[in-house]
Amino acid sequence: MSPIGVFGGTFDPIHFGHLRTAFELLHALRLAEVRLVPAGQPPHRDTPTCDAQHRLAMVRAAIADQPGFVVDDREVRRDGPSYTVDTLRELRAEAPMRPICLIVGMDAFLGLPQWHEWRAVLDLAHVVVAHRPGSAVPDSGVLGDLLAARGTHRVDDLHEAVAGRIHVRPVTQLEISSTDLRDLIVAGQDPRYLLPDPVRTLIRATACYRPRPTR
Ligand code: ATP
Repeated sequence: MSPIGVFGGTFDPIHFGHLRTAFELLHALRLAEVRLVPAGQPPHRDTPTCDAQHRLAMVRAAIADQPGFVVDDREVRRDGPSYTVDTLRELRAEAPMRPICLIVGMDAFLGLPQWHEWRAVLDLAHVVVAHRPGSAVPDSGVLGDLLAARGTHRVDDLHEAVAGRIHVRPVTQLEISSTDLRDLIVAGQDPRYLLPDPVRTLIRATACYRPRPTR
């Protein structure tokens, strides 16, 4: 069974940095699919600017009918903080024998030891770190030790076990962030060519980044 990829994020809004990463990993790792999982209430950061339903709608619009991309709305439907470990437990229960690759950017990987039940994450899934070519990979501390013990360069290892390996994978880095996009939109500029046109259309139609009047 080919692994599924699980790519979580706040996606406030989703942009081409996310989509290109998911697309390259879908093919490079021979994944059955990549599930994009918008967080309902991201636990480690401020409340998103745009509400969960709008962020979910933007992810749906972004992937449209791209084969191999699937939107998974379980974290938006679930009450309380959106812990990745809960999502992985549900997916593991649905498919006990299927490898799961949790996709994270290097910035997210560096914060892994602060995640809720982070060690359980590696019992449930492999972690694939989408990495800027040429930039530093941790070689000391908790993450350095973890990479020494569990790191693999072999894609086949991600197919042969259901969980527990860490694979650092260079991907084309597009210097786009949701933070910069929100700032740009609030400043009245056009986000065109940084995110898919249907997402831009939704942002315009819903005005979901328009500053709310303060009382
Ligand atoms: P923000 O600026 O609001 O923090 P973001 O652009 O980093 O948002 P998130 O939704 O927080 O987007 O990120 C979801 C995942 O996508 C994380 O694992 C993050 O590391 C990764 N990611 C974010 N931006 C990029 C990018 N330009 N290229 C590759 N991966 C990215």
